[in-house]
Amino acid sequence: MKKDSLWKTALEQLQIKISPAAYQTWFAKTSLESVNNNIATIGCPSTYIKKRLEKKYKPQIKEVLKSLTNTALQLDFVIKNQQKRKDNNNLGPLFQEQKKKELKRKEKIKESGLSPQYTFSNFVVGNNNNLAYAVAQSIVQNPGTRYNPFFLYSDVGLGKTHLVQAIGNKILKTHPEREVIYCTSEDFTNQLIQAIQNRTTAAFKTKFRSADVLLIDDIQFIAGRETTQEEFFHTFNALYMEQKQIILTSDKPPKEIPDLEDRLSSRFGSGMLADMQFPDFDIRLAILQKKCEDLKLKVSTDVLEYIAEATPSNVRELEGALNRVVTLAETRGVQPTKSLAQKVLGEPPQKKPPTADEIIKTVCNYYTLKPKDLKGKRRPVRIARPRQVAMYVMRKETELPLEEIGNQLGGRDHTTVIHGVGKIKELIHNDPGIKSQIMEITTELGG
Ligand code: ADP
Ligand code: MG
Repeated sequence: MKKDSLWKTALEQLQIKISPAAYQTWFAKTSLESVNNNIATIGCPSTYIKKRLEKKYKPQIKEVLKSLTNTALQLDFVIKNQQKRKDNNNLGPLFQEQKKKELKRKEKIKESGLSPQYTFSNFVVGNNNNLAYAVAQSIVQNPGTRYNPFFLYSDVGLGKTHLVQAIGNKILKTHPEREVIYCTSEDFTNQLIQAIQNRTTAAFKTKFRSADVLLIDDIQFIAGRETTQEEFFHTFNALYMEQKQIILTSDKPPKEIPDLEDRLSSRFGSGMLADMQFPDFDIRLAILQKKCEDLKLKVSTDVLEYIAEATPSNVRELEGALNRVVTLAETRGVQPTKSLAQKVLGEPPQKKPPTADEIIKTVCNYYTLKPKDLKGKRRPVRIARPRQVAMYVMRKETELPLEEIGNQLGGRDHTTVIHGVGKIKELIHNDPGIKSQIMEITTELGG
């Protein structure tokens, strides 16, 4: 009997012996994988089912199989998809070839010093980094031509390492035969010192001078180190002459790195310079959304907005803040919420209050008036009401005392200001028009 029809018949007989519910739960998705050397291998869809069959149903299965084959078969239970994975090894030469290539590629990435997690696809582009990104893209297309060297600088945590590693990873992906070397300038220094100690400087030189793409991160740390600067100068020249791509990062532009030899700083600045700035709120939010997408985290937009608001500094801190919120939610077994984020991160930093001048300007723009109208003596409602709005907004958005508000609005005394502010408070309750005007004005002021 063929194994599939054998198992089909066996299942039919088992159905008679056990309850329909038990059959459905434990047997419906099983199969007979093989019968060899008196061992029947039974494929189970999960560990859970495998354990149950082994523990409870072994005797019944044995009995049924014996009745059908006249043989006392031993039973072996396996999990089906594991079986499949084993089978992959036998998929033939094409598969083996692909696997070898993949292994080689991974090996190459490891040797290059790159980390595969830094890619273009998880790098968020915005107006803070779009020049650097465009240059990076162009280098991937044509390394060693137009933008050589590429010198990328910014404050810490703004994505330099990410972007230059993305270049390296992409080049290795499209041209696996190219030699890409990534290291920090400290690694470069350490390797050089070791080479000098071990008398292997020739090998050191050959290694760095045979790169097609050399990425040195945080080059500022070679400043003040005479031997390293000397060696790097020659490495740089050798690669440059051969039109090999050189990419350097730093926390400042070449000319501003203290104790960097002139011949180096002039070479570093001779190609393409680009910097990256702090990301604004929208970009911070986009980065958080991207992170959640990549890590398959479910975090609602209002929580992400809170994190983006509360962490206005660099991207590394932004990621750290997201991790802290998500980890705390996980340990408590709850979804991340805004109040949880508030607990972890504290209140977002306070914005600076607007100045009296800014308020006057914004109110005037809104009602198409001139500051001198608000400050003047005239009292038609068309002017008096906006003047009172200005008083109200100053009272609400600043710490200015009543006298000062009066001063700012043409030398009015504090009782006039109290009256004006009171009038608007009253109108806000009764007139939705005024309420929305005030909201628009405060939004305009960044409140
Ligand atoms: P730097 O080298 O400038 O100090 P990194 O490249 O180490 O900064 O960036 C810090 C962290 O922020 C890294 O985890 C990086 O992946 C992330 N990061 C920075 N910029 C971006 C961006 N534009 N999009 C996505 N992640 C970013
Ligand atoms: Mg870095």
